[in-house]
Amino acid sequence: MAKSRVFAAVDLGGTNTLLGLLSEKGEVLERLEVPTTVEDGYEVVVDRIADGLRLMIGSRSVVGIGVGAPGPLDAERGVIIESPNLEGFDNRPLATDLAKKCELPVFLENDANAAALGESWVGAGREARDLIVLTVGTGIGGGLILGGRLYRGSAFSAGEVGHMTIEPNGPVCACGNQGCLEVLASAPAMAARAREKVQKGFETRMLDLAGGDPAAISAETVSLACEEDDPVALRVLEESGRYLGIGTANLINVLNPQLVLFGGGGARAGESLLVPIRKEVERRSFAGLRACAEIGPCTLGNDAGLIGAARVAMEGS
Ligand SMILES: [Zn+2]
Repeated sequence: MAKSRVFAAVDLGGTNTLLGLLSEKGEVLERLEVPTTVEDGYEVVVDRIADGLRLMIGSRSVVGIGVGAPGPLDAERGVIIESPNLEGFDNRPLATDLAKKCELPVFLENDANAAALGESWVGAGREARDLIVLTVGTGIGGGLILGGRLYRGSAFSAGEVGHMTIEPNGPVCACGNQGCLEVLASAPAMAARAREKVQKGFETRMLDLAGGDPAAISAETVSLACEEDDPVALRVLEESGRYLGIGTANLINVLNPQLVLFGGGGARAGESLLVPIRKEVERRSFAGLRACAEIGPCTLGNDAGLIGAARVAMEGS
């Protein structure tokens, strides 16, 4: 019997980077988390990733390396075009540099696309041919699997669901537009909404969970308070879920998916967030389209991007 192929994967983040070795069935064989420490500069960060990968690979025979990174990026040239969280990486030949250091082919993909590929390969999206994955974190990323394949668009930039306009006169987003989904419903937006309620004098467990300091309230605090049925925290998720639901209704009407999955730190609360999302979708999408569109949680957690990056290497090799 032929030996199972092994792929290396990198999930490059602004704070931490996950490295892994995966089987062709998507099993994580080895996993290592290292701080990215962007302030050390591009060369040092790439060296550190290459060292980590070489150590992990050892004498094993590895087919290729997949890298998931914050975009927009040019997957064909293997270059990150613009990434506010990875200062110094813009327009550097990341895939080429890493390939030289590791002597293996390297394939680059947007991290939200990688997460969608991971969920589609071995996660909650295994059975779905038409699938949308929304990652609610510092920003809101999206990956579109259409007809069983990742949809990249004409410049590898499709799926920027976080920058759909939801409120024409809403707050200004990091992208410069007003009222994007991201500025209304990302994890920091949830935390800001929670802090606002505390400042208005609402009594909530969130303040205790944050050690009495409103500034320490995060999206995680909101999720934890929801687990204790804190009504103010549930209200925060209802408001965020409403915006996410408006965006999801638009996506369902345009793309007719069979599954929409929510992952990332901002979606940790699970059903407390999914219920208001479904309610809004019910109000705003075509009955025939929403009837076949299930809305649920991602199941791979923090490993979705890593697993998807291995899939990128597998499809590219
Ligand atoms: Zn935006």
